Amino acid sequence: MEFEYWWLLAFPLFFSLGWLAARIDIRHVVSESRTLPVSYFKGLNYLLNEQPDKAVEAFAEVARLEPATVELHFTLGAMFRRRGEVERAIRLHQNLLDRPDLEEEQKWLAVNELAQDFLRAGLLDRAEHLFQELLETDYRPSALEALLDIYVQEKEWQKAIDAAKALATLSTRSYQLEIAQFYCELAVSESIHNRFDSARAYLATALKENRSCVRANDLLGDFEAAQGRHEEAVQAWKRIETQDPAYLSLVVDKLVSALRQLERLDEGTVLLRDYLNRYPTMEILDAAYRLILEREGAEEAYRLVRDVLRAQPTLRGLDTLLEAQLLEAPAERRQDLQLIKNLVHSHAERLAYFRCDSCGFRARRFHWRCPACGGWESFPPRRSEEDGTRDRSGSNFNPG
Ligand SMILES: [Zn+2]
Repeated sequence: MEFEYWWLLAFPLFFSLGWLAARIDIRHVVSESRTLPVSYFKGLNYLLNEQPDKAVEAFAEVARLEPATVELHFTLGAMFRRRGEVERAIRLHQNLLDRPDLEEEQKWLAVNELAQDFLRAGLLDRAEHLFQELLETDYRPSALEALLDIYVQEKEWQKAIDAAKALATLSTRSYQLEIAQFYCELAVSESIHNRFDSARAYLATALKENRSCVRANDLLGDFEAAQGRHEEAVQAWKRIETQDPAYLSLVVDKLVSALRQLERLDEGTVLLRDYLNRYPTMEILDAAYRLILEREGAEEAYRLVRDVLRAQPTLRGLDTLLEAQLLEAPAERRQDLQLIKNLVHSHAERLAYFRCDSCGFRARRFHWRCPACGGWESFPPRRSEEDGTRDRSGSNFNPG
């Protein structure tokens, strides 16, 4: 009886094997798999089981046993780099490049991979050299992008401008914003050496590249003020209003000091009241409060803060309001008020930070280029408490 059951089971098996054999050249599959070392299948297995460490070692073994497998070497090199084993990746790609049997296409692929390795390892000079070789190949767009990145890291601003302009011809992006920022960087380095004329010329070019480049007017005001040309400084900073009034927050204190130098603080109070009406930010409120306190007295200053705070209640506004109250308070209330003010002040300070729109990086100081993600103009010019946004992720915070 058992014998008959075996037959029943074996029949469909033989049938399906025959069906398979008709469609796949079994001999070919067998001979293919025989030419691949066992480590190859081990590697695949590790990959499927999400054990990349063991997979890399298994593939490295294959590459050692089967030096002819060029594609595998490329895969392995990319894996090394991704895992941070940059030295191994460099050695592998250098060995590939030394091979005389490499086809033209493979050679440039290897050069590109090696350049990426150097970039990752921070060996910028060597990476730059290889990416320049790639400019005449199909890798031109990615090589230009990498070169732009390198020039920015090395603060080689003129080269960065050339790379960005070349990239703009290849893509739909204009790179205007970045190019204007690079001209601003050139202006900054000129001003450090007191070459204000050429610094000004760079700023004019920055504005020609990007009319909305606020930084160019901000810097122009700084340079004019540094040379005692306060009227010109005031004019430069005022122009920011036509570009993007949100950025007035960044220059309002400087505006007041320039007007003080010109002995035109009356004009300053009118200007700040007007700004405050139209763009009520904390920085403008702070500056207006101090100036009105100085020019018109404590009561007038208190009224100003109270009106703004009613329209837009913020912690920093409350902080300023308490300060104004303290000045007017009778002696017996002063101690309590001071206590509350200190509490509010430390809380407001803790919450007031600039925050990168691209990566969420937070900083006390405003940055034109995010120190974390390298994005240009990614910081909005107001501190985040005013936007009502709270960072719940507890992510990267830089008190600097
Ligand atoms: Zn960022």
